[in-house]
Amino acid sequence: MNFLEERIVKDGVVKKGNVLKVDSFLNHQMDIELFDKMGEEFKRRFANENINKIVTIEASGIGIACIVARHFGVPVVFAKKSQSINIDGDVYIAEVESFTHKCKNQVIVSKKFLSADDHVLLIDDFLANGYALQGLISIVQQAGGTVEGIGIAIEKGFQYGGRTIRNLGYHLESLAIVDGMDPETGEVIFREQ
Ligand code: 5GP
Repeated sequence: MNFLEERIVKDGVVKKGNVLKVDSFLNHQMDIELFDKMGEEFKRRFANENINKIVTIEASGIGIACIVARHFGVPVVFAKKSQSINIDGDVYIAEVESFTHKCKNQVIVSKKFLSADDHVLLIDDFLANGYALQGLISIVQQAGGTVEGIGIAIEKGFQYGGRTIRNLGYHLESLAIVDGMDPETGEVIFREQ
């Protein structure tokens, strides 16, 4: 087991509805030492990619992305969730369905902060059905930029997002892939990587 898998076993809580709660260290209270190790690991896994920007989505991707960015020495742009329809043309827009909140959000990035010159690493806390990532990929494509890689903390391998994204040919690295979890026993099964 790697450092993140060990932490999930120690502090993660399996909830009903295929939800893994990791709010004591990942997406509410945040363990910055852990994030730093994640940054180091992503830097190792994406050593061959030429990355000049990290893009994530609010809110829970931001903390991780910021610490990861220290390891790459690049800025972070986060896609903002927006309720209102944005029509003034100065933003890239994608529609993202929320796995946890079961609603649709528009996410936007200002055209000032993403362009055809950008070689992007996408970062997020979870990958479930892949809607958040598809939205971010669309935004980078609208800008004419290149998605060089995708770094995820926890992929739920029993949902289809990982397969979809890999089938599209993206270099996707997940630090922990959960292949099964049981809300009765709390057991979490990881994929061997
Ligand atoms: P997707 O868009 O891939 O279906 O879902 C990914 C997004 O949903 C992530 O940004 C994350 O915030 C949220 N999410 C999906 N599954 C879980 C989960 O099991 N636990 C938590 N805490 N968030 C999740």
